[in-house]
Amino acid sequence: MGGTFCPQDLATGLIRMLECRLCRKLMKPPIIQCKSGHSICRTCDLQLGLDPCPICRQKKTDVRNLLAEEMCQKILYPCMNTGCSESFMLIDMLHHEPNCKFRMFDCPINNLCLWKGMVCNILKHAETAHGTNVWHEDSCRTTGNDFSESFVETSLVSSLGELFIWNCEFSLENRKFSGALKYIGPKENASKFTYTFKLSKNENNQAVKMKNVVLSENESFGDVFRKMNNCITLDYNTLLRRFMNGTRLNYKLCVKICS
Ligand SMILES: [Zn+2]
Ligand SMILES: [Zn+2]
Ligand SMILES: [Zn+2]
Ligand SMILES: [Zn+2]
Repeated sequence: MGGTFCPQDLATGLIRMLECRLCRKLMKPPIIQCKSGHSICRTCDLQLGLDPCPICRQKKTDVRNLLAEEMCQKILYPCMNTGCSESFMLIDMLHHEPNCKFRMFDCPINNLCLWKGMVCNILKHAETAHGTNVWHEDSCRTTGNDFSESFVETSLVSSLGELFIWNCEFSLENRKFSGALKYIGPKENASKFTYTFKLSKNENNQAVKMKNVVLSENESFGDVFRKMNNCITLDYNTLLRRFMNGTRLNYKLCVKICS
C-alpha cells in the first residue's frame, strides 16, 4: 500500500485485516494470538488444539487481541445462510440468525433422515417423506402402536400457521406414557404457546385434560421425560387403561396462543 488512504480503502483494508489468516473468514470475538501476535479465529483455535501457530510455529497463548475484538463490533457481517443477502453488526446478528428465513433445519421427524431445509419446506418434506406423521390443526390422533411393547412416535403438528413436533413414548417397563410438544423456530417464540392434551371415552363422561408448556428447540424430549417436567405423564395401570379404545389410545392435542 503506501501513499494516501481514502476512507473507503481504509474501511476495506481494516475489514481484510479482520480475516482469519487460516480460514479466511471474518473473525469474531474471542480472538486469541500466538506468541508472535498472529490472531487466530475461535474455530481455527479449537481445531488446532495444542498445535502451534501454523504461520510462525510459535505457541498459541490465551492472550486475546482486544483491539481486533473491538473492531469486530464496528463492522457488518454477512449472514451465513445460503440465499440470505443481509449483513448485520454482531449484536444484531444474534437476533437475526434464529429468525432468518433461510435458516436450515434438520428433518424434525426422523433423526436418521438426511434431509435439511428451510422452515417453509419442512411441512412439504414431512408430507412427502413421512406422510403418516403429519397432523393438521386439532384433529383426533390414535397411537400407531398398541401397548404390548414400548414405543416412540414422533409427528409434525401444523397448527395456527406454525409447526410443532409431538413426541410421545410408552415404556412397558415403567408402565408410563409420556408426551411433549416442541416448537420449530426461534427459541423465544416457544413461550407464546401452550397446548392441551385430552383423553375421553364416550361411554362414560369422564375426561382427562392436561395443559402444558411448549418446549423450545434446545430442549430434549429425553430430558423432559426423564425429569417428568414440562411433559404429559400418565400411568398406564391407574389411568390410561380406562381410556383405551381396544389396544390403541385416542387423544386430542389443541395448541393455543398464550393469552
Ligand atoms: Zn479461522
Ligand atoms: Zn504465529
Ligand atoms: Zn439471514
Ligand atoms: Zn425427513
